[in-house]
Amino acid sequence: MDIKKILEYQDKDKKVINLERKLSSSEDLKIYQSMLNVAKDAQARSANLDKNAEDVINEYNSLKKAFEDNQNILDNLEKRDLKNLDEKAIQEIKEITNKVVSNLNYLEKKIMAQADSVKKILDEFDNTKKRYGVAKAKHADHKQKYELEKQKLEPEIQKIQAELKELEKGIDKELLTRYKAKRTDKFFPIFVPLRGASCGGCMMELSKAQIEKLKKNGILECENCRRYIYLED
Ligand SMILES: [Zn+2]
Repeated sequence: MDIKKILEYQDKDKKVINLERKLSSSEDLKIYQSMLNVAKDAQARSANLDKNAEDVINEYNSLKKAFEDNQNILDNLEKRDLKNLDEKAIQEIKEITNKVVSNLNYLEKKIMAQADSVKKILDEFDNTKKRYGVAKAKHADHKQKYELEKQKLEPEIQKIQAELKELEKGIDKELLTRYKAKRTDKFFPIFVPLRGASCGGCMMELSKAQIEKLKKNGILECENCRRYIYLED
């Protein structure tokens, strides 16, 4: 098996891998992707606040209704002519009045607390909106910078890729298929030499039987790191 051609190919492909790594580790890419999450979080928070606001407003309305009901009771009591009532009836009216007044005081406090909650929600809504705006602007800015960087590197990548395409013609089809199936920027190099009795990728020592198999077949897939081990001349 002629391994030289695929090694030459891998050597050139390394330049593409390095350019790809440069792009994928770009600070601008990291920032613009993280801003996407910030914007998404802010959107989710806004939806939550919407729901909270609805609950608070419903609560506020029912408190207001209770307040009005008590106010009406009090108004009606005040309209009553107390002249013809006996002591017991007057006492009863006094008790009801006291209770209603106490209800009104309680409800007033609750209504004020609710109004405070509404204000807090509105403030947070405002802050969330600002956060979203900042994240969106930062996202757009860094995305543009990343795209520019990409545009700058793209011709270089394409040039090497054209050269690789040329090289492919002379490479054993099976080796090339194996190579392409494993190629990612995290999994590189794909073909590694035997170092002593160990895999040149992960340094795991091979058994005698495995080395025999390698000698017989020309390449051997490492059981540990899944790279292809070859014999150096
Ligand atoms: Zn290995």
